[in-house]
Amino acid sequence: MRLVLLGPPGVGKGTQASSIVKKYDIPHISTGDIFRENIKNGTALGITAKEYMDKGLLVPDELVVSIVKDRLSKDDCKEGFLLDGFPRTVEQAEALDSELSQMGIKLDKVVNIDADEDILIERVTGRRICKTCGATYHINNMPPKVEGICDIDQGTLYQRDDDKVETVKTRIQVYLKQTQPLIKYYTDKGLILDVDGTRPIDEVFKTIVDSLPTVH
Ligand code: ADP
Ligand code: ADP
Repeated sequence: MRLVLLGPPGVGKGTQASSIVKKYDIPHISTGDIFRENIKNGTALGITAKEYMDKGLLVPDELVVSIVKDRLSKDDCKEGFLLDGFPRTVEQAEALDSELSQMGIKLDKVVNIDADEDILIERVTGRRICKTCGATYHINNMPPKVEGICDIDQGTLYQRDDDKVETVKTRIQVYLKQTQPLIKYYTDKGLILDVDGTRPIDEVFKTIVDSLPTVH
């Protein structure tokens, strides 16, 4: 299964991605996670990416594209993959198309999850992440058993620097301007699967799985 998850910040891409990759046994490629890992490790890529991320802006296409190309060339992507948060511009989508055609493969679906701005802001500002394993929680919708502590490995939960309300508003504007055109791009290719992201997490997951091709 070769999938792209498309949608505005906070709509639930990462949450759905964790369940989808388990079900289909494919690698989860999140460009946001790759940048955050590089920031944590203090790499040159992390230092550059952070400048854009903290402002709520997109990291330049050429940087993102080269990371994704490199990642897709790894052995574990041979049988499929899930791209989460990439592509985010038409230029990135075109670069992905040309890379996939060189590899002789095609996307199966682009899952487009959507919700209104007030829901996105509530979700992003309530999001908390485990420092050690990266698991995602929500202070109201998906609270951990003990406040501030990860259920899985007891790591400390933190709020992303870019999940403050002012930055979220910029990120939504950036999404509308630079990423939303991808809905038409992939609709024209017959790949879009529209999903209502306002539904509870397990319902969203069921809708996605029921609409994807059956794997044998
Ligand atoms: P994205 O990767 O699209 O930015 P996340 O998957 O990190 O979004 O979800 C954003 C926040 O909203 C998280 O705190 C998550 O727990 C919560 N969340 C995700 N999906 C839902 C849902 N369907 N209903 C309620 N809360 C959700
Ligand atoms: P969310 O799902 O909440 O929008 P992500 O973790 O996907 O957050 O992305 C966080 C930030 O990382 C983005 O605001 C952007 O600065 C950067 N980023 C992630 N993916 C891309 C991409 N494909 N192109 C450009 N910038 C990206």
